[in-house]
Amino acid sequence: MSQATTAQSGQLSGEQVNRYRRHLILPEVGVEGQKKLLNSKVLCIGAGGLGCPISLYLAAAGVGTIGLADVDVVSPSNLQRQVLFGQSVVGEPKVEAAAKKLKDLNPDLKLIELKTVVNSSNVMDLIKDYDVIVDGTDNFPTRYCVNDACVLAKKPNVYGSIFRFEGMVTVFAPHLKNPDTGEKGPCYRCLYPEPPDPGSVPNCAEAGVLGAICGTIGSLQANEVLKLLLGIGRPVIGRLVTWSSLDMEFRTYKIRHDKNCPVCGERPTITKPIDYEQFCGMPILDPKSLEETKREAEQAKAPKTAAAPDPTLDAKGLPPGYAFKPDWEVTPREVKSMLDRGEKFEFIDCRLPNEYAITNIEGAKLIPLQQIGQRIGELKGKENEKVVVHCRSGARSMQFAQILKQQGFKDVKSMAGGILLWNKDVNPGGPQY
Ligand SMILES: [Zn+2]
Repeated sequence: MSQATTAQSGQLSGEQVNRYRRHLILPEVGVEGQKKLLNSKVLCIGAGGLGCPISLYLAAAGVGTIGLADVDVVSPSNLQRQVLFGQSVVGEPKVEAAAKKLKDLNPDLKLIELKTVVNSSNVMDLIKDYDVIVDGTDNFPTRYCVNDACVLAKKPNVYGSIFRFEGMVTVFAPHLKNPDTGEKGPCYRCLYPEPPDPGSVPNCAEAGVLGAICGTIGSLQANEVLKLLLGIGRPVIGRLVTWSSLDMEFRTYKIRHDKNCPVCGERPTITKPIDYEQFCGMPILDPKSLEETKREAEQAKAPKTAAAPDPTLDAKGLPPGYAFKPDWEVTPREVKSMLDRGEKFEFIDCRLPNEYAITNIEGAKLIPLQQIGQRIGELKGKENEKVVVHCRSGARSMQFAQILKQQGFKDVKSMAGGILLWNKDVNPGGPQY
């Protein structure tokens, strides 16, 4: 008989009493509360920065069944904040690596490995057997998808998000009451009726995040899950708690149920999951980023040899299928030969100084895109010269080039693929960030 079964039949085993004694001594938890936890089922969506602390604390607390959904593999750049993983599991699927760690942490745990993308076709089925859902994802289609499914299935959705030095937490649960007002709780759509314009909100890979932010926000989410399972305290329904770590300030905002909400309002128009990629105008998973994660993990595992140019690049040194615009762009390979020939041209790096410090190309002058207004004077008199601009991956340098052309510069080109492509083709093994 497993220990969990012992709990179901009414008694905690001697080992369980010992393991959970800090819980048992709390009158608000006690043996009954611990048995509730052992019999409860929580679905954690995402095993990333938030999913790691969430699942660690829930497993340690004795939540009997945890479903963990993630399709990614562990990459070296995860280790700065994803505290479930270490060097030895780089390249392994996250849910498999997490299962080993979490079952080692608590043998009472039944961990359900869900190596799958959560989308409209499977979400209702995935969530149906769980008591509480925790959203630890970082993309908008999945957030709307999880929200709608939780509203429809009447499951509490413990929400958290992180960005740079900040984070926020709330519980979306229109089927439950705001403990302060007695009103219905809001859902994610009550708060954010429309998704942001695609590309307008950078994700953590683009904007960065301080690792410890994940620990704080994920722990707060795990704590809300435990409160809901135990039925203790005031769940953060109808309140959005934000944390600014640089100021060390927590703030609480009242958020209200919207009676016109399309999913939880009085006359809902969404009665089953919709196409969230279409709704948000962006993919749930960027296939390029998954590819890159795999390559990053493989490179970390590969024996250290002299780096060779990326074999997936085409004859011009561009990624397969790249829509090269000859009027506007120049390849890193062409820039390299211009430099080698000693050709005279103005070479501009339009990234930020912190990015320049990570990796840069000798001879390029740093003029961040944000400063072009104040610094365009530095290029005065070069309107008829050749100008090449580069950035990280080619988007900002294209903007920079367009601005220069509008200002009368005759021959301006953006370096295709930016320094990331340079570091794959011309300077193989150079930093990717
Ligand atoms: Zn709503």
